[in-house]
Amino acid sequence: MISPKEAKSIIDKYIIKLGTESISLSNAGNRILAEDIIAPFPSPQFDNSAMDGFAVRSKDIENATNENPTKLKLVGIASAGNPFEKELQVGECIQCMTGAKIPLGADSIVMVEHSSGYSESEFVKIMKKPIPEQHIRKKGEEIKKGELLISKGVSISPNEIGVCATLGYGKVLVSKKPRIAIFGTGDELVEPGSNLKEGQIYNSNLYVFTELSKHFGAEIIMKNIIKDNKESLKLFLSEALKTCDIVISSGGVSMGKYDYIRDVFMEIGVKEHFWKVAQKPGKPLFFGSTSDSLIFGLPGNPVSSFICFVEYVYPVIQEMLNEKKNSKIIATLKNDFPNEKQKHRFLFGRSWIDDNGELMCSTTNKIGSHMLSSSLSANCIIEAPRANLNLKAGDKITINPLNWRNKYDYN
Ligand code: AMP
Ligand code: MG
Repeated sequence: MISPKEAKSIIDKYIIKLGTESISLSNAGNRILAEDIIAPFPSPQFDNSAMDGFAVRSKDIENATNENPTKLKLVGIASAGNPFEKELQVGECIQCMTGAKIPLGADSIVMVEHSSGYSESEFVKIMKKPIPEQHIRKKGEEIKKGELLISKGVSISPNEIGVCATLGYGKVLVSKKPRIAIFGTGDELVEPGSNLKEGQIYNSNLYVFTELSKHFGAEIIMKNIIKDNKESLKLFLSEALKTCDIVISSGGVSMGKYDYIRDVFMEIGVKEHFWKVAQKPGKPLFFGSTSDSLIFGLPGNPVSSFICFVEYVYPVIQEMLNEKKNSKIIATLKNDFPNEKQKHRFLFGRSWIDDNGELMCSTTNKIGSHMLSSSLSANCIIEAPRANLNLKAGDKITINPLNWRNKYDYN
């Protein structure tokens, strides 16, 4: 049986790159940038005031003090968006609000608090000698024209949106979202919200797949629970293969009497690249392709399918999107890790930074592949290659952070 590493390198060979599309900035949140964002102009674009005050020529008021204020002639007003167009002459000043363009001739802003105020109409008394250039935001001090600010491949968050807007990008080029079809198989499956009959269970996997797909930046196009019946399966699949980049099934790929997902895949022309991976959970993982779609048969057990989605489907979505990938990280085990002799082992786990600043982790208490509640306390997947002996507390191990769980957990 192949290892997860081999399985991943096989998958890599069949990944199909998707194109790009230009979308409005207001819809760009959570999308993957497909162009570099370069400053078309410097920022600030012009010298402007950082304070509400008076624009002055600092030389005119070199001797201004509280006791001995200097009088300047008030010749105008500038506010944000409404510049004062003339050049300031010797002995003159203007009222100048935050964000207003600094008029020609002026080289400093005196805060309104250090003057006789805005109620004056002809002359203003300045009580404090300014430092040249004080309270002026200089043209280009933040961003130079032509500066690369955001590289393609970045996921667009509120932080990137704000900078794109600052630079006037009304539209941005993003990668097209992978289109995904997901389906569950099993006569036992009932939708949450309905009543269960004897022997039935609720479908949870498709809910997890939907959230993961959305979170990873893909789009669910088709979704269905299909009874353990070949004909309805074929109908769904042939439509899914026509319209989607990735088709993902849950359940029906094991050795059970009604596990004929794999047969159906092959009957409708899916080329199998592997079936079964030496891992726990998720041994029956299937991967195949057609010319335009990748097909994943994930196991039905909820923990198995969740972990297989994160480990195998997510990297494919990222690659299709040309998204920058985070690498897995190394942490120190707080408790022993139960290795498998023949299989690579994945377990939901928790990681945190301890008082010494060391990244620690431990597996969750419930470790059955049917125990989805083990995900509730998890913020990562912990993994170790097959080994005869268990890893011990204090040993190093690889963790794959579930990034939507890590907003506060590393504090
Ligand atoms: P299977 O891979 O079809 O043999 O399913 C393995 C186990 O996962 C069985 O206990 C199924 O009832 C359960 N299972 C299959 N599909 C789902 C699903 N969509 N949601 C929750 N459990 C499922
Ligand atoms: Mg089944």
